[in-house]
Order: sequence, then C-alpha cells, then structure tokens
Amino acid sequence: MPPAAFAAAASCVGQRRARPPRVHPVRRHRRRRAPVRRPRPPQPRDGGMVVRDAPLGAVLWRAAPLGGELRMRPRLTVPILERDMSLPSRTPSGPHHVIVAGGGFAAVEALLALRALAEERVTLELIASDPLLRYRPSATGEPFGADEVVAFELVQLAARAGAAFRRDAVTAVLPSQRAVRLASGQTRGYDSLLLALGARRRAAIPGALTFRDQRDVHHVRRVLDELRDGRLRRVVFAAPLGVAWTLPLYELAVMAARRVEEEGADASITLVTPERQPLEVFGRPGSEAVSTLLADHGVHVICGALPRAVTRDGLELRYGGTVAAERVIAVPQLAGPRLAGVPADWNGFIATDRDSRVTDVPGIYAAGDLTTFPVKQGGLATQQADAAAAAIAAAAGAPVPDERARYVLRARLLGADAPLYLRAELDDRGQPVDGGASVDDELPWWPSGKVIGRHLSGCLAQLAPTGAAA
Ligand SMILES: Cc1cc2nc3c(=O)[nH]c(=O)nc-3n(C[C@H](O)[C@H](O)[C@H](O)COP(=O)(O)OP(=O)(O)OC[C@H]3O[C@@H](n4cnc5c(N)ncnc54)[C@H](O)[C@@H]3O)c2cc1C
Repeated sequence: MPPAAFAAAASCVGQRRARPPRVHPVRRHRRRRAPVRRPRPPQPRDGGMVVRDAPLGAVLWRAAPLGGELRMRPRLTVPILERDMSLPSRTPSGPHHVIVAGGGFAAVEALLALRALAEERVTLELIASDPLLRYRPSATGEPFGADEVVAFELVQLAARAGAAFRRDAVTAVLPSQRAVRLASGQTRGYDSLLLALGARRRAAIPGALTFRDQRDVHHVRRVLDELRDGRLRRVVFAAPLGVAWTLPLYELAVMAARRVEEEGADASITLVTPERQPLEVFGRPGSEAVSTLLADHGVHVICGALPRAVTRDGLELRYGGTVAAERVIAVPQLAGPRLAGVPADWNGFIATDRDSRVTDVPGIYAAGDLTTFPVKQGGLATQQADAAAAAIAAAAGAPVPDERARYVLRARLLGADAPLYLRAELDDRGQPVDGGASVDDELPWWPSGKVIGRHLSGCLAQLAPTGAAA
C-alpha cells in the first residue's frame, strides 16, 4: 500500500496516526540475456510467389535453400517446398494449366474431354488419392456372381489424355492464390481447377447393414447364406431419405428374390423406399417396367415410407409402423467432401452453375457426386465433367460450340432375365422431364457398360482392367 493511502486508511478507523512504513526500492537482479536472433525467413527468389494460408497464418515459400522444415515462429512449423514442387509459372502466353482433383468417372471424362477440346492449349495434371479407378456400379452383381468390380490404373488413363498423374490428396483450395494444398505438404498452382472428389457414403439407418459398394459385398453374401439355410425368413432392402439414385437397391432386391426362388427358400423380400413410385427418377416408363420386374419375382414394395431404425421386430418407419424383418440391407446417404477454401452447403456439397462453375469462386469447377445436383450417378457425373471441360477449354482460348443439352440418365439394370435399359431426361432439379423417359430391352448405346460417358466409355472399352478391385 502506498504511504498516503496507508495514512488515509488509518484515520478512517479513528486510530492513532501510524507512521508510514519505510519503503525500500526493490532492486531485481536479472542475468542479462543476449539479444534473440531469429533466423530470417528465406525470401522468395526471382520474385517467386508467396502462398499465404489464411486460417493458420502460416506462410509457405515457393523455394527455399534448405530441405526439411523451417521453424519460423514458436509453435509454427512450415514445410519448405522443394524446387520441383513449386507453383508452375503462369504466363499469359503459356498453356493454361488445369488441375483435375479426383480419380473417378468425372475426373477421367474431364481429362479426355479437355484434351479433345483444348488440344495443346492446356497442360493437364490429375491428382487423386487412390491410384485406381474402381468400377463400383458393378458391385451389386458381385454377391450373386453376376458382375465383378474391376479397376483401371489412373496413370494409364491420365496418359491417354496426355496428363501427368500425381498420387496425393487435395486437402484445401487457396482460391486467391489459384493453388491447392496437398496432404503431402506440397502446393500446386492452377489456372483452372476441376474438383471431382466424389462423395462420402455414410450409414443412415441404425441397425441396418449398409451396402456402400464392393467393400460390403460380404454383408449380402452372409444374408444369402442365411436365406439358403432357412435362418432368415424376411429380408428388407431399404433406402433412406434423400437418396435419389436408388437403382443399386432395386438390383440387390431383384437378384436376392431370384436367388430365393432358385433355391426354393421359404422367405420374403421387401423393398422400402421414400420414393412415390419405384425407381421414380426414371419417370413413368421406367417405374412401370421396374414394378413389373419386382412383381414377377415376388418382391413386395412399400413406397412413400421413411425408414427410421432397425428394431427387434424389423424396420421401424417414421410416422408409425414397422415392416417385419430379421435383416435389413440399406443403401447409404451421401455427404459432400467439405474441402477447406471451397463454399459448400450444409451437407458438404458444392453448388455449381450449368457450366459446372463453382458459385462465386472464379477458376474453380466441380463435377460428379460432390455437387449439389440431387441425382448422384456416374453418367451424370461425366456430363457435368463435359460441361466443365467445355468452359475451361473456352477459357484457354479454344473454339468451343455452345451446346447445353439436358442431363440424360442412362442405366442398365442388373438382375432382369433380359437386359433392361432405362433412359430419362432430367430437369435442373433432377426431376424426370415429361416425355423424356424410355425403356429398351436392346442395347440403345455403345459401348455397353453401366456408366456411360462421351469420352470415358470408349476409352475404358479399349483398356485392360488391372483385375478385381478390393
Ligand atoms: C453400388 C453402386 C452402384 C451404382 N450404379 C451405377 C450405375 O449403374 N450407373 C451409374 O452411372 N452410376 C452408378 N453408381 C453411381 C456412380 O458410381 C457414382 O455416381 C460415380 O462414381 C460418381 O463419380 P465421381 O467421379 O463424382 O466420384 P467417385 O467415383 O466417387 O470418384 C471420386 C474420386 O476422388 C478421389 N478422391 C476423394 N477425395 C480426394 C481428395 N481429397 N484428393 C484427391 N482425390 C480424392 C477418390 O479416391 C476417387 O477416386 C453406382 C454407385 C454405387 C456405389
């Protein structure tokens, strides 16, 4: 307490005036520290680009004299990029550098379309976390021996389009720098970026066996064994709310019903879906054809039902009711990849315009399952990729015809005695257009396949797959 305050406090309580205590200045002895010398961060040479990572405040240098890591500030470690990992220079006169991120149908179609449209005006780089393109639509046939999921080497597919292949995962986009950040720590620059990262598949009906793709074939095989041995009498195939591409569920149900018939098992197969009519996305003709097929094989169908969860009695529905079942197999709900630096909706999906441009972010395009378009289908993914390729080729200076066609859904349904080919034109909300749907029992397009892409189908037909995909 300072002396003046001490006196005031003492007089307040009516005591004898106390002498203020003597105050000695405190002298603190400290060892003199040498001035801190922080290493000066290397400056980018030849006017190189500095990439700032806004969220963390980290700074990456385009080139640095040392390998390894540089500690710039306490607790902040910044990887130094090697020279050959630096951002490619983008001069106005040089070729337009396009990065395609993802290794699915949309990515490969985009590369092939870009090379066809823009020829030497573009340099192409494919970045994918998986070295294989896996033909997942065949997964429904695997448990029944009707089909097999094969895989193609992305390095070979990229070579077909004259693209470089880099196995890595894109972890963030830095739109203001026109660069992507990769899981390896590298940063790659682009003039145009096409995101084709697909969607995440997640279980949506608690207690059900979720069939995502070839990874879940064992679930179906086990159910088939149990049906054959008479341990199961009632099996339900269910679609959760929000899944517009339900074809895999119909394929599984029809093939399971046929297996039950063939083995003379005493069991029932039921399909439960929120759709108003079976396979609604294919319009009335597709719906009627599939209804006939289901009826022919004794599959019970419950439309307009919202599965909630599997209980001891079966599949419980929202708004009341339970469908009796001992086993429920469901298709998953999808969610977008939620990539840092790219705006997305509440579910992680990316909104685009009809040219596949990402809304409000110049130079970035998106195609395939990761977009907000409600129907997640391989053929549509390739059509979105074609739209992106046309817009990018135009940006690179190529003469590109302005042809904006409607999205067309084409499918070959597995499980029918005779092949069933379905086609439907969709509007911008993913709804079938009146008069745009048809059903064929003869192959209406070539080459045959479950995923139809203008450039992709022919390319895959010429390549030998590497074998079965795990
Ligand atoms: C069982 C089943 C049956 C189907 N049947 C049909 C059918 O009959 N016909 C049809 O047309 N469609 C069908 N589909 C849908 C079709 O498979 C998808 O719509 C299609 O695969 C979407 O293509 P995509 O290129 O958008 O994404 P995907 O095929 O999912 O490819 C995404 C790619 O991106 C890569 N990737 C992901 N994250 C990153 C990252 N951060 N960095 C780098 N790479 C990344 C992945 O490794 C993958 O290679 C079916 C799907 C399933 C599961």
